[in-house]
Amino acid sequence: MQFKTFEPNIEVLGQAMYSMIEGFGAFKGVAIKYLVAHGICEKKDNELLLDPAQWYSLDQWLQAFEKISRDLGDTSLFLTGKCIPINAKFPTWVKDVESAVKSIDIAFHMNHRKNGIDMFNPATGTMLEGIGHYGFEKIADKKVIISVCNTPYPCEFDRGIITAMANKFELRATVVHDNTKPCRKNGQDSCTYIINY
Ligand SMILES: [Zn+2]
Repeated sequence: MQFKTFEPNIEVLGQAMYSMIEGFGAFKGVAIKYLVAHGICEKKDNELLLDPAQWYSLDQWLQAFEKISRDLGDTSLFLTGKCIPINAKFPTWVKDVESAVKSIDIAFHMNHRKNGIDMFNPATGTMLEGIGHYGFEKIADKKVIISVCNTPYPCEFDRGIITAMANKFELRATVVHDNTKPCRKNGQDSCTYIINY
């Protein structure tokens, strides 16, 4: 189910939230209005008080997503997702399409914390559960990856993230939503994306 957290006390790094502002391109002010309206950050003397190093409520951010989806449609969610790889923290070992898609789940956890604890610890490799996963399954002998995503984020946002990560290393890579599988837009638990590169 998109837009609903699975557990309380989950937070997102402010740095990742800048993707929503970037995703609006020439209409950054519109994104800022949604962030302010949902109590995520304030605007004071024309300056946005959104600290990239601070943590913010995932619940409130998902509510902003839901309102944007209702008011403006799926494209805004897709474009926000596409800006995630520019704005969020990613591991340093990302060097091609495979490692890029594989890294999404780790980066996803690096940008969230639960009860004040980072959900991925690079020193120990420990990952906390509570926000779902971006799956990674490489098809043998083919340049195809299947990613099953069961995060609380919307379907189009995740398609945007995967598309941008794949295109970062291979401009011709394509990401298609597998419409024969469940979709979070229909209230189901996951979406499946097929990456060809
Ligand atoms: Zn979907």
